[in-house]
Amino acid sequence: MLGRLATWLRLLGYDTLYFADATDAELARRARLEQRVLLTRDVELTRRRGVRAILIESERVEEQIRQVFHTLHLTAREAFSRCAVCNCVLQDISKDDARGKVPPYVFHTQERFRQCPQCARIYWRGTHWARILGHIEDLGASV
Ligand SMILES: [Zn+2]
Repeated sequence: MLGRLATWLRLLGYDTLYFADATDAELARRARLEQRVLLTRDVELTRRRGVRAILIESERVEEQIRQVFHTLHLTAREAFSRCAVCNCVLQDISKDDARGKVPPYVFHTQERFRQCPQCARIYWRGTHWARILGHIEDLGASV
């Protein structure tokens, strides 16, 4: 399952759909229709005609991100712009608006906050975030 990869691609700013239980035919049809790149662990799916697909090799999400970034020449320029759950584009909110809605430590240590217009989740750049971005930089992707 590539759910964590999908979550991270959204956090890194990429429009990413995720289907846990779609059939191969549905996935291929949707990818063709919307001109999406299909990320899969299923080698059969990568052989479908007219579908651009990447066969994800690693079990580790950092390596999966690395493979996708490398193959598609992605950058993290638009990072922190999309909701990890809804795939919606986030909106900037003021620090005041985040007060009481994020943990006190986060409120005191972060300056920039963004919110999802659909689910109202609030995002900030925490330590986990820095670790993943650092890892991508280490791998030679331009951030
Ligand atoms: Zn959301």
